[in-house]
Amino acid sequence: MDASAADDRSSRRSAIHDAVVVGAGFAGIYALYRLRKAGLAAIGFEAGEGVGGTWYWNRYPGAACDFESIEYSYSFDEALQQEWKWTTRMARQPEILAYLNHVTDRYDLRRDIQFGTRVVAAHFDDATRLWTVSSDRGHRVTARHVVMATGCLSTPKPIEYPGADRFKGQILRTAFWPKEEVDFRGKRVGVVGTGSSAIQAIPIIAEAAAHLTVFQRTPNFSIPAGNGPLSDDEAARQKAGYADLRAREWDSDVGICAKLAPETRRALDCTAEEREAEYEKRWAAGGLYFYCSFVDLLVDKSANQTLTEFAQRKIRAKIKEPALAELLVPKDYPFGAKRICADSGYYETYNRDNVTLVDVKSTPIREITPDGLKVGDTVHALDMIIFATGFDAMTGTLLNIDIRGRGGKRFSEHWQDGPRSLYGIMPSGFPNLYITTGPGSPSVLYNMVLGNEYHVNWIMDCIAHLARTGHQTIEAKPDPESAWRETVNAIGKMTLFGEASSWYMGDNVPGKPRVILPYLGGFRSYKQACDAEAASGYPNFEIA
Ligand code: FAD
Ligand code: NAP
Repeated sequence: MDASAADDRSSRRSAIHDAVVVGAGFAGIYALYRLRKAGLAAIGFEAGEGVGGTWYWNRYPGAACDFESIEYSYSFDEALQQEWKWTTRMARQPEILAYLNHVTDRYDLRRDIQFGTRVVAAHFDDATRLWTVSSDRGHRVTARHVVMATGCLSTPKPIEYPGADRFKGQILRTAFWPKEEVDFRGKRVGVVGTGSSAIQAIPIIAEAAAHLTVFQRTPNFSIPAGNGPLSDDEAARQKAGYADLRAREWDSDVGICAKLAPETRRALDCTAEEREAEYEKRWAAGGLYFYCSFVDLLVDKSANQTLTEFAQRKIRAKIKEPALAELLVPKDYPFGAKRICADSGYYETYNRDNVTLVDVKSTPIREITPDGLKVGDTVHALDMIIFATGFDAMTGTLLNIDIRGRGGKRFSEHWQDGPRSLYGIMPSGFPNLYITTGPGSPSVLYNMVLGNEYHVNWIMDCIAHLARTGHQTIEAKPDPESAWRETVNAIGKMTLFGEASSWYMGDNVPGKPRVILPYLGGFRSYKQACDAEAASGYPNFEIA
C-alpha cells in the first residue's frame, strides 16, 4: 500500500486534524507548508488530480500570467526564489504549473493532499467546537480549523445556451481545458467571450484554425503584454534585487513593482503632455501597470476619460477596417472598471482573413444547434465551440459547499445578499473558518500570490495566538463584520467600478447580488487594518 493510499484510509477514519485546507493552488500549498512548519497536523483536499489550482485547470493555448513572474511567485523563502529559474518574463501556464509542482515536492507536501476529492460540506459542532469536513469520496474529517483556499476564479460559469448536447462538433471550455493537445487545424472554431482568457487564446487559435469566429458581447481594454524570453543576465539582475522588490511590493497597493513604480500624481494635476508620457510608458511596459498609474484614474471620471481616450486611440490604430475597429473599441465604461487584459497580438488578429467578429450584444446568441451557434436567425457553422465565458467569481465556489457554522447557521444564508466577513477572512458565526483572498479583501486587485501569502500568515498568527492564550476558537463579531462590509461598499461607491458591468460587481452571473466584491482601498490600508487587529489581540473577534 502506498503512502497516499494509507493517508486516504486514515483520513476517512475521522482522525482529529488541527486543520483542513480546501484547495491546492497558491493559497492551499502555502497554507499546508505553514501548518506543517508550525508542527500542526493538516490535511488538504483538492478537486483536481494535481496541485496548481488556476494553473491546473486553465490549460488553454496562450494561458500565462499577466505580470512579471519574478513577482507572480512566492516570496516566503529566499532559497526558493533564488533557485527557481523562470524562462519567460510572464510565465506560461505549463511553467507556472511546473513551479507549483516543484514547490509542493520541495517541501514534501504532496503526501498531505487528497487529490480528485471535492469537499462538499463543512459543519461546525457547538459541543466539541470542531469542524467535520465531508468529501464527495466519502471522507469525513474532523478538524479544529478550516482554511478555505478555494480560489476566486475556480467555478467556471455553465454554458448558458441550450443545445450543447445536440452539437455535432466539439465543445471546450477554457477553464476545463483538456490535458491532451487540441488540434485546430482545418477546423472552423468559434470562441464565445472576449475576456482575459479569450484574449490570450484567440491569436494562437487563429494561426492554426481554418477559420475563427469570435462572438463578442462586450469589448475589453487590452494592453500588449510585451512578453518574451527572460535572459540569464536579466534573471540574475532580478534575483540580486529580490529583497528590495519584495519590500516595495508589500508596501504598495497593487503589489506589482518590477518594471514601474506606482505613480503618486493625479492625472488632472498634470498637463496633457505629461499624461500622454505616463500612459505611453505604461502601455510600453505591458500588462497591468495601469492599475498603479495616476491615483485619480479609478475615482474621477474626467481623469479616467483621459486614459480611456488614450487606450481607444491605441486600439483603433491596430485594426485596419474602421467598422471592425469600432466594434472592438470599448466605449460604454471607464478604463479599468472591467479587468484590464494583457495580450500578444490580440487586436492584430482581426486583420487576418480567417477571422470574423460577431457582435452578440446587438443580436444575442440564441442556442447551440447541431451545426454551430445560432445568433438571431443566423447559424454560424462551426466544428468546435470554445466557451471562455468566465467564472462565478469570488463567491460561487464557497457557496457550492454546504457550510454550517455555530447553531447550524448556513453560510449560504449568511451570504445571501452578498458576501460578509471581517477583513474578507472570517465570517461571523463560523468559528475557526478562514477564507483566503476572499471578497472584502484586496484579493483580485493585488498580486494574488502575495495576497494569499499575507492571508495565510495572518491566519497562522491567529492560530498561534489561540494556542498561546489557551483558547479554542476565534470568530468575527457581527458588528465589526457589518462595519467592514459598509467600509468595503462605501469605498466601492467612491470608485468608477460600479459604472461597468463586470464580475467585480457580480454582474456576469444572472441573479447574483450586485455588490462590489474586492476591497478597493488598496493593499496598504488593508494590511494596516489587519496587522493592527492582530497586534491588539483581535478585539473585533470573539475568542473562546
Ligand atoms: P486557485 O488557484 O483557484 O485554487 C483553488 C483550488 O481549490 C482549485 O484547484 C480548486 O479545484 C480547489 N477547490 C475549490 N473548491 C473545492 C472543493 N470544494 N473541494 C476541493 N477543492 C476545491 N492572478 C494574478 O495575480 N495574476 C495573473 O496573471 C493571473 N492570471 C490568471 C489567469 C487565469 C486563467 C485565471 C483563471 C486566473 C488568474 N489569476 C491571476 C487569478 C488566480 O486565480 C490567482 O492568481 C491564483 O492562482 C489563485 O490561487 P488560489 O490558490 O487562491 O486559488
Ligand atoms: P471574463 O473576464 O469574465 O470574460 C468572459 C467573457 O465572456 C466576457 O467577454 C463576457 O462578456 C463573455 N460572456 C460571458 N457570458 C456570456 C454569454 N452568456 N454570452 C456571450 N458572452 C458571454 O472571464 P475570463 O476571460 O475567463 O477571465 C476571468 C478573470 O480571470 C480575468 O478577469 C482575470 O482576472 C483572470 N484571468 C487572467 C488572465 C491573465 O492574463 N493572466 C487570463 C485569464 C483570466 P461580458 O463582458 O459582456 O460579460
